[in-house]
Amino acid sequence: MDKKNNKKVRETNIPASNTNKNKNMNKVHGQVFVFTKSLTVGELAKELNVNASEIIKKLFMQKKIVTINNYLDDDTIGEICLEFGYDFKKEEIIDEEDFEKIQIDDKPEDLKERPAVVTVMGHVDHGKTTLIDAIRNSNIAASEYGGISQEIGAYQKVVDGKKITFIDTPGHEAFSAMRSRGASVTDIVILVVASDDGVMPQTIEAIDHAKAAKVPIIVAINKMDVPGANPEKVINELMQHDVIAEKYGGDVMVCEISAKKKQGIKELLETVLVEAEMLELKANPNRYAIGTVLEAELDKGEGPKATLLVQNGTLYSSDYVVVGSTYGKVRRMTNEHKQILKEATPSTPVSVIGLNEVPLAGDHFMAFPTEKQAKDIAEKRKLKKINEERAQNSGVTSLENLYEKINEGQMTNINIIVKADTTGSAEAVKASLEKLNNDQVKINVIRSAAGAITESDVLLAGASGAIIYGFNVRPSALVRKKAEEEKIEIRTQKIIYALIEEVEAAIKGSMKKEKVENILGQAEVRNVFKISKVGEIAGCMVTDGLIKNTALVHVLRNGVIVYQGEIDSLKRFKDDAKEVKEGFECGIKIKNFNDVHEGDIIEAFEMIEKEDE
Ligand code: GDP
Repeated sequence: MDKKNNKKVRETNIPASNTNKNKNMNKVHGQVFVFTKSLTVGELAKELNVNASEIIKKLFMQKKIVTINNYLDDDTIGEICLEFGYDFKKEEIIDEEDFEKIQIDDKPEDLKERPAVVTVMGHVDHGKTTLIDAIRNSNIAASEYGGISQEIGAYQKVVDGKKITFIDTPGHEAFSAMRSRGASVTDIVILVVASDDGVMPQTIEAIDHAKAAKVPIIVAINKMDVPGANPEKVINELMQHDVIAEKYGGDVMVCEISAKKKQGIKELLETVLVEAEMLELKANPNRYAIGTVLEAELDKGEGPKATLLVQNGTLYSSDYVVVGSTYGKVRRMTNEHKQILKEATPSTPVSVIGLNEVPLAGDHFMAFPTEKQAKDIAEKRKLKKINEERAQNSGVTSLENLYEKINEGQMTNINIIVKADTTGSAEAVKASLEKLNNDQVKINVIRSAAGAITESDVLLAGASGAIIYGFNVRPSALVRKKAEEEKIEIRTQKIIYALIEEVEAAIKGSMKKEKVENILGQAEVRNVFKISKVGEIAGCMVTDGLIKNTALVHVLRNGVIVYQGEIDSLKRFKDDAKEVKEGFECGIKIKNFNDVHEGDIIEAFEMIEKEDE
């Protein structure tokens, strides 16, 4: 045990050979020459401890003429090794920042059984949601939490003393969106088919998804309570899609249930356990955690918040993690009942706060022993992502020059980055924007995510020629300055309709001369004073620009607008002030708003007519 933090000494996930320092190591191990990159004749000779001229001679005999500085291909290196009595092996070195590609080989003695991770799929209205609710609220193992409201989209149930993890996202889009990002989290799919409706298009789609992911299916024939329920018909229809029930010699287990009447649920769960046992699902709890993001959002009070599924290893609170291309320290880890956990073993879903940015569902995560390592790797991943996205530079950097481009007659691409307060609204904005595509304009939403507008968004916009849209979120003063320097257009809107209308107008070349927000400055709330009959006064430090008593304000918490209104009074000490400049303290009372928090940013702005460029 590591006494200081009470954690076990765990195995790390990145082998020493993958750390950058040790990359490209070629070595003779006994009689095997292991190489990681192509070598020159001279280099190979040195490694094999032979004379370069001997290699040149051998190749000459094969009518290959080389000099000491020529690079040899892998096959030739292999041939030479064999000639000199060595076996050979080419090892691919994966960069440490591509950690999801690193093959983790646990020793059999380190592996422990882990709970199965189950996803429910099926045609619309066949009863997925009802089944998920029935399972969640079932009290099979007299577990004390049955029925208590749930905080995250994944949960565990104890059945016959064993845990099963359920992922709550019914619908195939979530499943395939995860898969398209290289994430596979599900061990078993429960395919819900309504007994009175049979196999339908989305049933077939679900079968295809499960097969593509090589995940076994358990069929739950639902609605067995309705008159006319015909399970045999369902079983026969499924056979046409290569889902063969056990009783017909196949390997698919079938349960008959009524999700609504809560019948057959226990048997279904027991079937899941049987399937899980056959799959021999195992993991090594004694290594740093690896897993996948199931969902993520920007919480107004707590900042970036993600539901992580630990797939191998154990995640401890206060571990350092790289998640997607962000990182952080696990500040608090809770289960679906909001209970605080100190550790999360394999197959446990947990809600985590402490990340620097909001990751995406399907992102991989890995825990690291030190903050420095986590930070370095996250930075490299971020850079890599930006470089990959850079390729798609559009040349349209402002909505105003969009119409000019369109008028040039060519198909115009426009790249947009959407940041919003929730993943849901980010996706809604993305979907609405992409609907505007026509044969003249193609809108590519190159990033849509929950969270404040960050420096990384500005970098990406710069690299790919994109416009940033903030939907109910804002950049910090620092990020705004950076965007100005880089000439990146940041637009903000609070209603989807207005945002879409604005882009539509830009496409048609009919953008109105509009009023825009002119940011005056920002102040950070250091103290909150509650004064009876008056309300809350925010004791602030002006950190940027100035605050005017006539200004309009946004109250920002973690970059999200939590309130918009006007200043009621602005004071320096006891006196009313017309304006307070950067570096000075002031008291701000916001009209009709009494929920200001310490750490909030009050952003002062006024509406002005937009100048022509
Ligand atoms: P989903 O679209 O697959 O998530 O389906 P829902 O769970 O929303 O269910 C669709 C409809 O079927 C709802 O009206 C449910 O009440 C009903 N339903 C679900 N399970 C059963 C069942 O076992 N028996 C009956 N009779 N109705 C059910």
